[in-house]
Amino acid sequence: MKYKHIFIFLSLLLPVVAAFGQTQTQRLESHVYFLAADSLQGRKAGSDDARKALRYIESEYSSIGLQPFLDGDMRQYFIRRKYTTPNGKGVDQRVISADSVDYWTQKANNVYCNLVALIPGSDPVLKNEYVLVGAHYDHLGVRDGQVYNGADDNASGSAAVIELARRLMLQRDHLDRSVLICAFDAEESGLWGSSALANELELRGLLKNVKMMMSVDMVGWLKTGHLSFSGTGTLKNCSRLIRSAAEQSGISERHHGFETSPFGATDTEPFAKLGIPTLAVTTGLGSPYHKPEDDADLIDYVGLSKVTDCLVLLTSAMASVDEPMEPTGKVSPKHTDDLPFFQGGLVLGMGPNHLNIKNSAFRTKSLPAYQLGLLGQLNFTNHFGLQVDALIDGGSTRFPLGDNLLEGESEYGQLQLLIPAQLKLILGTKDINVQLGLGGFYGYVFRADLVSGSGRNKVVQDIDIQHPHQYGLAFGLSVRMAPFISFGFTRLRALSGVDSPLPAEARRCTTMYQISYIF
Ligand SMILES: [Zn+2]
Repeated sequence: MKYKHIFIFLSLLLPVVAAFGQTQTQRLESHVYFLAADSLQGRKAGSDDARKALRYIESEYSSIGLQPFLDGDMRQYFIRRKYTTPNGKGVDQRVISADSVDYWTQKANNVYCNLVALIPGSDPVLKNEYVLVGAHYDHLGVRDGQVYNGADDNASGSAAVIELARRLMLQRDHLDRSVLICAFDAEESGLWGSSALANELELRGLLKNVKMMMSVDMVGWLKTGHLSFSGTGTLKNCSRLIRSAAEQSGISERHHGFETSPFGATDTEPFAKLGIPTLAVTTGLGSPYHKPEDDADLIDYVGLSKVTDCLVLLTSAMASVDEPMEPTGKVSPKHTDDLPFFQGGLVLGMGPNHLNIKNSAFRTKSLPAYQLGLLGQLNFTNHFGLQVDALIDGGSTRFPLGDNLLEGESEYGQLQLLIPAQLKLILGTKDINVQLGLGGFYGYVFRADLVSGSGRNKVVQDIDIQHPHQYGLAFGLSVRMAPFISFGFTRLRALSGVDSPLPAEARRCTTMYQISYIF
């Protein structure tokens, strides 16, 4: 009998010794090797393999001593369900908490699960405020027979958050605010896990108490550079806290005011869209991103341990009474559905250019015109704006010289400063829309010449500019994919004559096919 007791004692002691006997780097390594093993088949959300990953993280959280947060259970089940929008106009997909664990036990593959755990703060008031640190644990699964192990994306972040939680538990008496430790499911499916938690916290009136939400996503490749934090513009004093934590942990950091890419999204997004300050933490895209080669043997474990150190320092500073944790109220353009009030851009255009003769059907032959310059746009609402460009424009056209068409042709060219201004009707969303423009233009011609003959007989003749001021109508159509690219055309039709050598008043008509880089 007594052997049995010794056996139980030893078996209880063993994991403790094992845990304490290992360094943080070794523990991080074993988490990543477990989560990114071929046996977990890429942890595809909703699969049995993702559930194995969940159970592993859950047992780590439990052994560290983390507490359940929602309804006495670390697990937050959720489903993705069709739902009629409040105005009754459309059907949307929403992630909502699943009341019943039956879904899970039935192994229905449309049920997902987050882990939400608590390290309670020690201040009687501030413990009701939260610093949330989360990492998604799902990945892409198996595609074309190849396992996408997702060691960097995001076994690395999951491992860092486990070890961060362990360290914070050891110093929990020094945490004034509470810390929420989260493992998100179904990030790769479209940020479903983080959306489910953000929605749930909002429903319970707890979301406003989240003072910072950090997503730790792909942090295993410090060897390629630095640790990057995006979102410092959402919280006052955030840059100072990051600098201090990075300095103390001997890590090289870069921080950015806001997340920018419209394509890459991480779990910060559902929180940021609800007005919560967020930070996206990553060592970047140096790893074989979303490729089957993203394996555990490529991870920089010493670097991952430094990242963990830095995040421990940052999280505990944020949980401290000394930090007021005030949001700035500013949101990344990526995290709002509104168009920014001001947009700037570079414009490159080219298109056919000819002259119309007043009161006549005669027009000169088209030659290309080229434009290069800047655009500025004010968006008064999401559907109405004003765009003004400042372009250097060079355009030519060809017409018969003299009365006799057989005498040969010559080219008339002019260089001008061109300022089209158009009121814009914007149809679509912030990220992709069609813009219809209607307005006018002003041009200042500072050079005009006439080229006749060709080869050796070519003669360039400067034209004396009598009418440098040009004006006319402008209208355009463009497709814009915010915040980068716009393409479309603007048509200009002059109402005033140019100094062409034609006997009658000649008016310019140009179609500019434009590509713009919007920033
Ligand atoms: Zn990821």
